Amino acid sequence: MHDPLSTRSVHGDGGEPHPYGALAFPIVQTSTFTFRDTAAVREFMRRKAARDPELRDEYARYSNPTTRAAEHTLAALEGGEQALLFTSGMAAITTTLLSLLSSGDHLVVLECCYRRTADFVRNFLPRWGVGATFAPVDRPEAWSEAVRRTTRVLFAETPSNPYLRVADLDRLAGLARDCGARTLVDSTFATPVNLRPLSHGVDLVVHSATKYLAGHNDLLAGAVIGRRDLLEPVAEARGVLGGVVGPHDAWLLRRGLKTLDLRVRRQNETGLRLARFLETQPAVRKVWYPGLESHPDHAAAGQLLEGCGGVVSFEIDGDLEATGRFVDALQIPFIGPTLGGVESIVQQPALFVSLDPAERRASGLADNLVRYAAGLEDADDLEADLAQALEVLERRGRRQP
Ligand SMILES: *Cc1c(COP(=O)(O)O)cnc(C)c1O
Repeated sequence: MHDPLSTRSVHGDGGEPHPYGALAFPIVQTSTFTFRDTAAVREFMRRKAARDPELRDEYARYSNPTTRAAEHTLAALEGGEQALLFTSGMAAITTTLLSLLSSGDHLVVLECCYRRTADFVRNFLPRWGVGATFAPVDRPEAWSEAVRRTTRVLFAETPSNPYLRVADLDRLAGLARDCGARTLVDSTFATPVNLRPLSHGVDLVVHSATKYLAGHNDLLAGAVIGRRDLLEPVAEARGVLGGVVGPHDAWLLRRGLKTLDLRVRRQNETGLRLARFLETQPAVRKVWYPGLESHPDHAAAGQLLEGCGGVVSFEIDGDLEATGRFVDALQIPFIGPTLGGVESIVQQPALFVSLDPAERRASGLADNLVRYAAGLEDADDLEADLAQALEVLERRGRRQP
């Protein structure tokens, strides 16, 4: 299939003229934009009231040309009319949910999802009178049962963190149309290279642009993409709540996007290869990767995804300590809590939740789970590194009586 994604990622910044003929759009480092005289202010306010889409810039909490260039590129990649950038993925998710929901409303969230998103839904939204029901990702009947008269939003994360569960988005969008709700999909793990949720009838796509989109483990940003009329209240909320990305980070994100297609395709290949390798290893109890037939959502992934990304989750044949020894034996990946960048990152999710065993069990994260996010290192090197770390584990296991 001819896919113009890489052309769009290089060229798609919206056709606004680049000042000075600069190839790279400049970083417009300013908090405000000045007016020649009061007549210019009046003209600006007249156009603003008429919702002129070509409106000039006024103040950096509302818009900035560098940010707009990155937003245009993202909108082009997702196939949406408009994109809005935020200071982080969480700012994008919380601002969007706050602008779609009011007191008395209800939302349905497919499990599992990013821990802080669940945190916001469980512990913050109820304070503003918004209730939620969590439903299993692989039981669409349960989604319908969870819907109430007051349901305004259906939320899914696909593939999800860290078990890479894949929801049937066509079905989710169909259900939302039937009940008059909006669908919001966190597509951070997929990126537009592997999945374009809008083309499946989803209303709004959100991203932690911190991950694959920026791609270099050097900034925080978030995005929401969709139809202009749906994003109008979100833009309004962003202007009030203020979680707007700065022009430096927007510029770095725009640069990262130029290589998105190249990077994610490579990470798809490496992810699948490492998942297949891990599945053959006796010291690995289970591998979670939607590209493997053993994954519960392998069929859905085949329907929906171009590739399954660079994150592979797997369970070590051992306890919390043995799993830690395996992680420590790895030589290439850094230990840390992010993914999607050029450097491989590994983490034992249970350790990032809590050291209290009861709390860990309640979180649903197995003690022996490892989340391995492949970067852009050579796949042979990464596989050899995994092999030697598993060997360390087995040697130690054999020494025990
Ligand atoms: C990291 C992440 C977030 C939060 O994004 P930040 O940029 O860290 O605020 C949300 N959803 C998913 C799936 C993530 O991986």
